[in-house]
Amino acid sequence: MKQYLIKRLQSNIKSLKTLKGKGRKENWKDKIQGALHSIPLMQYGITYKINTKDKTVHIQGLGDFKVNGISQIPCNAEFATANFIERNCDYFLHAIAYLPKEERVHNSMAIGIDLGITNQITFSNGIKVQYAITMSERIKRLYKVFSRAEYDKDTKKRSRRGTKILQKIKSEFLHQNNQKKDINNKLAHYVTTNYEYIAYQNDNIHSWMKFYGRRIYETSIGGFRECLKRKASTPLEVGRFIRTTGVCMNCGTVQHLSLSDRIAVCPSCHSVFDRDVVAANKIKQEVLCLWNLGETLAEDYIMPLQVACSNT
Ligand SMILES: [Zn+2]
Repeated sequence: MKQYLIKRLQSNIKSLKTLKGKGRKENWKDKIQGALHSIPLMQYGITYKINTKDKTVHIQGLGDFKVNGISQIPCNAEFATANFIERNCDYFLHAIAYLPKEERVHNSMAIGIDLGITNQITFSNGIKVQYAITMSERIKRLYKVFSRAEYDKDTKKRSRRGTKILQKIKSEFLHQNNQKKDINNKLAHYVTTNYEYIAYQNDNIHSWMKFYGRRIYETSIGGFRECLKRKASTPLEVGRFIRTTGVCMNCGTVQHLSLSDRIAVCPSCHSVFDRDVVAANKIKQEVLCLWNLGETLAEDYIMPLQVACSNT
């Protein structure tokens, strides 16, 4: 392991030198750093060993470490390489494990997904998901202290106290991002294990940021969509400019709805519908028309409107 580390350092410095020879400008990244932030552990059983009973990890040359969250690893995992990393003064172990291959669903069921601001995620079967990871009080407090910390503009040096608080802020943000990722993964798992065809609209979430910056930030629905693209057995995308909100499912009349209109009444056939559920269904319908899948699909139970409304 020691040899490997030395080799890596040497190759890093060599590549830096060749870059400099080519006339690349030196920036903060290219400066030779005095510390390594990761140690690769190549062989399970020799360089590192995970003990799920005692919740410890043994690393060659460093000893035993108590590790949080080891119980989440499934018992049939087969470990390959790992990386021992340092980030914001915290230590993590990134382990890569092989799991038996899971069969993808083949039940020819379809689901439409509508992303939104008030109801973050709405499924075409009537389930609505609302969540928000708000900025914690601790971050606000830390920022207040951080703004008072000394910073020298000429030498670009921060006071010792300032760097310490910055590290704390960074690790707090990391924690929040992990929470969002966790929610995304769990929701995506529900969808991908129950439905074969998954329809979503290619909304421009980036442009929503302009108007609802913080509320989008608190949810990371864009991340959820990316997650679906990776995991779904058949992801189907609806174009950005196809109208999905405010279209009556009964007769197809289009009406303009403002954001506060959650439940709408059709002006021509007077049927009552829930805005988001209808949008999700419309996305599903649109995709099925595009792909001519309509006949091959199994029926999905759609929750009655009253139940769907009481959930909100
Ligand atoms: Zn209508």
